[in-house]
Amino acid sequence: MNKTMKTLLVGGLIGLTGCATMKSENVDIMITPSSEVLISNVSVHKHGEEVHVTGTLRPTSATTSRTGHVDIEFLNADGTVIKTVQAVPNVALFMRNSRQPKSFSVKGEVDGLAEVRLVHHPDTMNECEL
Ligand SMILES: [Zn+2]
Repeated sequence: MNKTMKTLLVGGLIGLTGCATMKSENVDIMITPSSEVLISNVSVHKHGEEVHVTGTLRPTSATTSRTGHVDIEFLNADGTVIKTVQAVPNVALFMRNSRQPKSFSVKGEVDGLAEVRLVHHPDTMNECEL
């Protein structure tokens, strides 16, 4: 395995329900889907202090229409939240006939990153109570 590869793909290993904790080189990834939307294909790239998080969203049922948003927390080794970022998907609604992936992508400068937590919220960011 090439050590310069900083890519981690965890999507295929995550079940349909509940939380999942995945281990990257030094970064834990914890994903909490909502009842309406699953977060998959999460990828964390670290370039020094710069962290790039991407993923895709899948509806849990045919009645899901809104893509909502994803709250992303960056934690250090002590479990302290260093930074919180809200990610808005590239589209607001799941279109039945669209094959375009519903994806999100955020970048942040995080020193001492040990864990990334992703939580899906079905509401818009304005309704978020975080
Ligand atoms: Zn939220």
